[in-house]
Amino acid sequence: MAETNSPYDVIVVGGGPAGLCAAMYAGRGMLKTLLIERGLPGGELLNTEVIEDYIGFEHILGRELAEKMTKHAQKFGAELVTDTVATVEREADGGFVVRTELEKTYRAPAVIVTAGGTPTKLGVPGEKEYAGRGVSYCAVCDGAFFKGEVLAVVGGGDAAVEEADYLTRYAAKVYIVHRRDQLRASAILQQRARSNPKIEFVWNQVVEEIEGEPRGVTRLRLRDTVSGAISTLPVGGVFVFIGFRPNTGIVREHFEHDAQGYMVTDSNMMSSIPGLFAAGDVRVQLTRQITTAVGDATTAAIAVEKYLAERREQAAVGAS
Ligand code: NAP
Repeated sequence: MAETNSPYDVIVVGGGPAGLCAAMYAGRGMLKTLLIERGLPGGELLNTEVIEDYIGFEHILGRELAEKMTKHAQKFGAELVTDTVATVEREADGGFVVRTELEKTYRAPAVIVTAGGTPTKLGVPGEKEYAGRGVSYCAVCDGAFFKGEVLAVVGGGDAAVEEADYLTRYAAKVYIVHRRDQLRASAILQQRARSNPKIEFVWNQVVEEIEGEPRGVTRLRLRDTVSGAISTLPVGGVFVFIGFRPNTGIVREHFEHDAQGYMVTDSNMMSSIPGLFAAGDVRVQLTRQITTAVGDATTAAIAVEKYLAERREQAAVGAS
C-alpha cells in the first residue's frame, strides 16, 4: 500500500454538505485539511432536484448548491481527493490512519467523519430512473414539491408513518403501502396516522415497479403478498422509508452508538474516541437536514482546532 507523505492536521471523510462545510471551516482555521469523497462532492445534494429550505436560498438546484459549497471549501485551501475510504483506525500515538480503496494511506491527528447514511432502496425497476423525479427518501426535503398530489409512502415503521403524516400537509392524499397487515411503528404514531383523513393504508402489498412518464412518476405496480395479485396504484410520487443505514462501518475501533448504529457525540461533535469527530447524517440527532449538517460541521471543525491546540500543549508539557 502506497504511503502518502501527508502532514495533514485533519482528514474529513465524505464530501456532502457536512464534509464540505467542515473542510471550509478547517481551512479557514489554517488547518492543513484533506477531504476524501468517493464521488462528486455534494453528497445527497446531488440526489435532490431543487432545495427550498436552505436559509438564504429560496430556490436552488441541488447540484448548484453542491458546486458552490465545493468551491467555497477549496477557496480556503482544503485539498479534495476522489477516492473511497476503506478504514479509519486509531494509532498508538492517538492519531489516525485512513486507508482508501485506491490503496492510499493518509495520516492526521484528527478525523471528522461526515460519511452520511444510505436509505435502503426498494431495488425495483423505475426506482433509479425516477430518483429526483417523483422517487424520494426525504419528506422534509421534497414534500413541498407535491402540493395537491396523491402520493405513496412505502414502509410500516416509525419513519414511514411519521413522514406520511408530514406529507399530508402538502398532498391531497397519502397511501401507506406496507408489505404486511400490521405496522411496526409505535402506537402513538399509528394512532395519529389512522386518525388522519388524508392517509389510507394499502395492506399486504409490495412495489414491483415504479412507472411514469418523462416528467415523473405516474403509478406503482403492486403485488399482493398474500394472493399474488398484481394491481396498479396511480400516484404522483413515492416516498420510500424502509430503513436507513449510517455509513460508519469504516471506523475500525469501538465507538459509542445508538441501536441503529448512529454515532453518539458530545456537544463538540467528538465521538467516544478522542480526536474522532462526526457531523451530519452519521450522528445521533433529531433531524437530518442540510442546515443541521453544516451546523454540526462548523462545531466539529472549530472543536478540532481546539483539540489540536490542547494536544500540542500536552506534548510540550510532556517533553519539558
Ligand atoms: P424500521 O423500523 O426498520 O422499519 C422499516 C419498515 O420497512 C418496516 O415496516 C419493514 O417491514 C419495511 N420494509 C423493510 N424492507 C422492505 C422492503 N424491501 N419492501 C417493503 N417494505 C420493507 O425503519 P425506520 O422506520 O426507518 O426506523 C428506523 C429506526 O428509527 C427505528 O428504531 C425507529 O423507531 C426509529 N425512528 C423513530 C422515529 C420516532 O420515534 N419519531 C421516527 C423515525 C425513525 P416489516 O415491518 O414487515 O419488517
